[in-house]
Amino acid sequence: MAPPVYITFLGGLGEIGRNCAVLELEGSLLLIDCGLMFPDTDMLGVDLVLPDFTWLVERAEDIVGCVLTHGHEDHIGGLSYLLREASFPLFGTELTLGLASGRIEEAGLMKRTELIVVADGERWEIGPFEAEFIPATHSVPQGVATAFHTPQGTILHTGDFKIDLTPVDGRLTNLSRIGALADGDGIRLLLADSTNADQPGHSRSETSVGKVLYNLMHEQEGRRVITACFASHIHRIQQLADAAISFGRVIAPVGRSMKRNITMAREMGLLTIPDTSLIDIEKVDRYEPGQVLVLSTGSQGEPMSALTLLAANENRWLKITPDDTVIFSSHPIPGNENAVTKVIDNLFRLGAEVIHSGLSDVHATGHAKSEELKLYHSIAKPDWFVPVHGEYHHLIAHSRLAQVMGTPEDHILIAEDGDRLILDDNGLRQVGTVPSEYVYVHGTVGDIGSGVLRDRRILADDGVVAVTVCVDRKKKRLVSGPEIATRGWIHEPEAGDLLAELSARVKAAVEKALLDGADIAGLQRAVRRASGGFVANSTRRRPMIVPILLEV
Ligand SMILES: [Zn+2]
Ligand SMILES: [Zn+2]
Repeated sequence: MAPPVYITFLGGLGEIGRNCAVLELEGSLLLIDCGLMFPDTDMLGVDLVLPDFTWLVERAEDIVGCVLTHGHEDHIGGLSYLLREASFPLFGTELTLGLASGRIEEAGLMKRTELIVVADGERWEIGPFEAEFIPATHSVPQGVATAFHTPQGTILHTGDFKIDLTPVDGRLTNLSRIGALADGDGIRLLLADSTNADQPGHSRSETSVGKVLYNLMHEQEGRRVITACFASHIHRIQQLADAAISFGRVIAPVGRSMKRNITMAREMGLLTIPDTSLIDIEKVDRYEPGQVLVLSTGSQGEPMSALTLLAANENRWLKITPDDTVIFSSHPIPGNENAVTKVIDNLFRLGAEVIHSGLSDVHATGHAKSEELKLYHSIAKPDWFVPVHGEYHHLIAHSRLAQVMGTPEDHILIAEDGDRLILDDNGLRQVGTVPSEYVYVHGTVGDIGSGVLRDRRILADDGVVAVTVCVDRKKKRLVSGPEIATRGWIHEPEAGDLLAELSARVKAAVEKALLDGADIAGLQRAVRRASGGFVANSTRRRPMIVPILLEV
């Protein structure tokens, strides 16, 4: 009997974001990615959402490392939180570690975190694991798939990938290596990206976007062009820069991460822009509109991003004018559509022209669509399959593709966040769960909890009514009050009758409860019940009722 391998999913299965999986062999834990998720609009005030690290922190001593598949926030953004509670080395390609190190450095955790650069095709021993890094093409350079060679056979994790036969850097998803693994000892278990599993056909090649951008730049002769894309999309930045330079434009980056990533990628030799073509945004006014390309962050309408501030006319150096064309070289992530639309409206208000992926092919996805996934399955021919990286319907769509390609249904396991699977001589099955709730981060406080969020939703929807009464329980009488203060429930100056009636009801309820000998908790209940019932009946709203009991 070979020792079993456990696979525990802490995030990314059932949502797009906070990707984090854990392999366990002979008591050692190896993480695959540690990402964050951006909040939905109903997560009021929340900055970001993390995996629940409770289980990992309890076993911090057992963690031998974390393998990073690529440098997107949904794969690296949780590290600066987990590394506060556990210390372990990070394995990734040069750019991946470069992108990950920013936040780790900001959190002051760099000194106690070892970064180990891996190269394409290398095999690394990490504790009892052996990890092989296989090139994968994605919307950030230097992504990898990882083959874990274990006593239970090869576990292949695809990372985020597409099958682009003409990527900008010529670095293809290495299908022949995956074929060699499949034809050798075989792939025992495949964990594969499901993001676009319900999209028909093939994704477009990144280089096809370059041609569109070139033509657009040609059409925009004499006008200033401002583009927004992900700051980590180095190949998109390269193609934008190439198009601009071929029409004699200089390039002005704006936004902190855009500036940082351009500098880093040029240093690593991943981005080619001559010094003479780069200018500081502060000097943008020295150039005619037709001589400039501004490369901006904020393609998702993020509130404090460079493009959102530009659209609000709040950039010190650059003012949007009718001479500007803004190109969104991006597609809104589900949930960000409204924010992006607002930015587009504001740009039009300032007189700019706006081009986005709905109007022109200025974007290509970084995730394999169904025909690419089928091709991947036909090559990998896994014994067992677990779809990862997707909302639940993506996971289902991917499991159906796998069945079409020959993996029997009883060798496919649809897992969700928190599920703990075992792979042993008998195959793959679920053996338990670990905590996997959303962990909400707001400001510097780690977990604000779902109770806080529920309160915020009530406050946002219906407001609050605070009712203060002062009682003498020995004499069983109301000393003063009720004092009623409200926020967000009703316009008080016009609600005199309502408040008087509410006050009378509470007074009666408290006096009765006092005579019945109620304790403080009982009195609070009486206030809440009398107020809540009246408020709901008279206004059809359900504000938060806060009873405040004072005793003499
Ligand atoms: Zn990604
Ligand atoms: Zn991802």
